[in-house]
Amino acid sequence: MDFKDHIKIIEDFPKEGIRFKDITPLMQNGKVYKQAMDEMAAYVKKKDADIIVGPEARGFIVGCPVAYSLELGFVPVRKNGKLPREVIKVDYGLEYGNDALTIHKDSITPGQKVVIMDDLLATGGTIDATIKLVEQLGGDVVGLAFMIELAYLNGREKLKDYDIFTLMQY
Ligand code: AMP
Repeated sequence: MDFKDHIKIIEDFPKEGIRFKDITPLMQNGKVYKQAMDEMAAYVKKKDADIIVGPEARGFIVGCPVAYSLELGFVPVRKNGKLPREVIKVDYGLEYGNDALTIHKDSITPGQKVVIMDDLLATGGTIDATIKLVEQLGGDVVGLAFMIELAYLNGREKLKDYDIFTLMQY
C-alpha cells in the first residue's frame, strides 16, 4: 500500500516555507489507517516494548491505537500546564516554534522498555525532548516510530543513538 497517496501536502502552513504534511486523509480512511497502525504495531512488537510514549497531540493518533492493539500501556507527553499531577519538564525547539514538554513523574518504571511514537519526524526536537523525559525517569528507549520522516531535516542525525522506524520518507 502506498501510504503517501493518503497524505496531503499544504504549502506555507502554519508559516511560510513549511510544507505541512496533513495525515488526516489517511486517518479518514479506516482500511488505510488500520494498515498503517498494524505496520507500526509490528515494529513495536519486534522491539519487545513494555510501554508506548507519545507527545501531544499527533503522537496520540499513532501511539494509542498501537498500544490498544498490543495490549500495552500508553503514556502521554504534554505541553506545560496540561498534566494534573507531579511532572518533570524539559524545554525544546520545533521546526516552527519553542515550548516545554512534561510527563507524569510516576508514569515509567525504571528499566521499562519504551517505544516513543509520533506522526512525523522533522528536526527531531520533539522526540529528543521526549527521550530526555523518559530517560530521566529510568526508562530504556528501545525504539522510535513515526508515520512520516522528513529526511531533508536530518532528524536521524540528532537521534543517531536510537533505532528508528518510519512508514514514509520525504
Ligand atoms: P520536530 O520536533 O522538528 O521533529 O517536529 C515534529 C513535530 O512537529 C511532529 O510532532 C509534527 O506533528 C510537527 N511537524 C513538524 N514539521 C511538520 C511538517 N512539515 N508537517 C506536519 N507536521 C510537522
